[in-house]
Amino acid sequence: MKLPAHQRFWSPAVRGLTPYVPGEQPTIEGLIKLNTNEHPMGPSPAVLAAIRAETGDALRLYPDPDARELKHALAELHRLQPDQIFVGNGSDEVLAHIFLGLLDHGRPVLFPDITYSFYPVYCGLYGIDHARPPLDEQFAVRVDDYRRGNGGIVLANPNAPTGRLLALAEIERLLTLNPDSVVVIDEAYVDFGGESAVGLIGQYPQLLVVRTFSKSRSLAGLRVGYAMGDPGLIEALERVKNSFNSYPLDRLAIAAAVASVRDPDWFERSCALVIREREAMRERLQARGFEVLPSCANFLLARHPQHEGAALQAGLRERRILVRHFKAPRLDPFLRISVGTEAQGLALDDALAQILA
Ligand SMILES: *Cc1c(COP(=O)(O)O)cnc(C)c1O
Repeated sequence: MKLPAHQRFWSPAVRGLTPYVPGEQPTIEGLIKLNTNEHPMGPSPAVLAAIRAETGDALRLYPDPDARELKHALAELHRLQPDQIFVGNGSDEVLAHIFLGLLDHGRPVLFPDITYSFYPVYCGLYGIDHARPPLDEQFAVRVDDYRRGNGGIVLANPNAPTGRLLALAEIERLLTLNPDSVVVIDEAYVDFGGESAVGLIGQYPQLLVVRTFSKSRSLAGLRVGYAMGDPGLIEALERVKNSFNSYPLDRLAIAAAVASVRDPDWFERSCALVIREREAMRERLQARGFEVLPSCANFLLARHPQHEGAALQAGLRERRILVRHFKAPRLDPFLRISVGTEAQGLALDDALAQILA
């Protein structure tokens, strides 16, 4: 078969890839951006000061390849040991290393039919077989669907893009049913009202909990994520990392992330603000006739019985408001709307009133 000219140097692996498509990051002024679950507030002032303090001659030098200061700060925060923590360039990179290092065992990795759409992309990149038990009618995970041979399990909790939380007791049941599989709990949104599985790490050596600074710490632009688990799991990730990039976190990222962990006041206030605004947004959407899923995240998944998801998204875009719509089987009627400021929430409500009229 003749390949298009621009593809002639591509390896067979690249030709077979289906990459993840991130939400758009437009540069248009004045747009209200509720499409990628970023935090509506700027980061902690202490974080910005730490970045400024790190900006100088020291940038001549490579950063600490082990980001020890950050691992110590995170270990203290989560009451773990530094050798139970792995840090990477955003949790996407951490997840990629997990798929390669801990989930490739010749049996299918399990994750729900509706979840973070990067998981199947990593399976494609590394040639890992996977199966996707469907969420139930209310978009909840059924733990009993995960009682089958598998090469590992990956659950986002709260799930994305549904916002639904699986109770900690159910996660523990999942771990009990799967003593010989790595179970990854991706807690990207847990700070907005979830129950963390971190406390189970000592009891379950197959458990890996993944976190990010992108959402609740308002540092999506910095690219810092981490995983927590048994030192044996962490060592596998270090081996992958040190075979790929010794310095995934630069000096600015390490300094900023440490400062973020050391500013719990900003963190707690800003999460509380997002949770409050999420509930206000839910009430306004319901008043306009939307069905809104219960959410423990910084976004809502909502649909209108009389309007299609794609049409609503287009109508909002015309009014300079970006939200996310997924062209996937069961998600098609829905919009995923990130929680913004109060002013942005009111502007969304105005725009929806016009579109629905
Ligand atoms: C946003 C998100 C991530 C990626 O976070 P980064 O640290 O910015 O790479 C991972 N998992 C889920 C479920 C997310 O929503």
